[in-house]
Amino acid sequence: MTMALVQNNTLDLIGNTPLVLLKGPSEAAGCEIWGKCEFANPGASVKDRAALWIIRDAEARGELKPGGTVVEGTAGNTGIGIALVANARGYKTVIVMPDNQSKEKMDTLRALGAELVLVPPTKFADPAHFVHTSRRLAEETEGAVWANQFDNVANRKAHIESTAPEIWQQLDGRIDGFTCAAGTGGTIAGVGLGLKAFDENIRIALTDPHGAALYSYYATGELKAEGTSVAEGIGQGRITANLEGAPIDTQFRISDEAGLEWVARLLREEGLCLGLSSGINVAGAVELGKQMVAEGRKDVRVATILCDTGFRYLSTLYNAEWLRAKGLPVFPWLA
Ligand code: PMP
Repeated sequence: MTMALVQNNTLDLIGNTPLVLLKGPSEAAGCEIWGKCEFANPGASVKDRAALWIIRDAEARGELKPGGTVVEGTAGNTGIGIALVANARGYKTVIVMPDNQSKEKMDTLRALGAELVLVPPTKFADPAHFVHTSRRLAEETEGAVWANQFDNVANRKAHIESTAPEIWQQLDGRIDGFTCAAGTGGTIAGVGLGLKAFDENIRIALTDPHGAALYSYYATGELKAEGTSVAEGIGQGRITANLEGAPIDTQFRISDEAGLEWVARLLREEGLCLGLSSGINVAGAVELGKQMVAEGRKDVRVATILCDTGFRYLSTLYNAEWLRAKGLPVFPWLA
């Protein structure tokens, strides 16, 4: 037990998250599996770090000035992180999202003070897509910047400069492998680059959900998606600027069912309520641990990311009707 942190500034509450040894996953892998508690950030997700670095970078470049506006196209955790950081720094937030997103998400963003611009869902190639709409809105708004989380490498810098050194220090420099899934790719690329700077032998594995193209890309060089996933925040079909040069040594593909099983077990056996991307990450970490143990390595230690709180998914992952409608197994205590 270490002493709780004391901070003079609310923004310093972002990062410095705890790392926790996960009992069930460690037993399943036959080695230590550690989870980085990103749900402990003020916005309850890993994206607070990207939001803080993106906003600080825009300030440092002189693009974002007092009273300015941050615009982003996102429905999820990035919008929540941006709204909180922007509030703390005196900026306005405008979030563009497709109008088919959950009411919970819209309510959350409005509750935080963000202005919501709803657009009809459409394909990425359509100029009316929410990402392109957000870019145009930023260009047309006086004093506004576009956060551009996918291709703004201030995102992965957050993980090179904060998440990776924290994990390295928390494990006293004794870590063999790291894995997580990619949305923008900021976390896997940034933590990967950051950990390799300490020790290039640390194995970095991409854990990809079904329906994403990166597993195939790192395995064969071809961007090709297979299957589908209901996991929010992960699943990428292209090499974003954040993913360019990511030091990926190996890759795993994890189904929603396998991820959900860890979500259920971590909740019921270890008292952690998480979203599905965390479950998929833990399943990937167990695979990576098993792989290294099978090579005859001793005292293997693997770390992964517990991306966000399950409280964000009460009407989906933790709702029997929703799970049934998606053809997914219903948690026994909800059935
Ligand atoms: N899990 C969740 C729940 C997320 O919102 C995100 C962010 N898109 C990720 C994982 C993936 O993080 P990154 O964008 O850094 O790849």
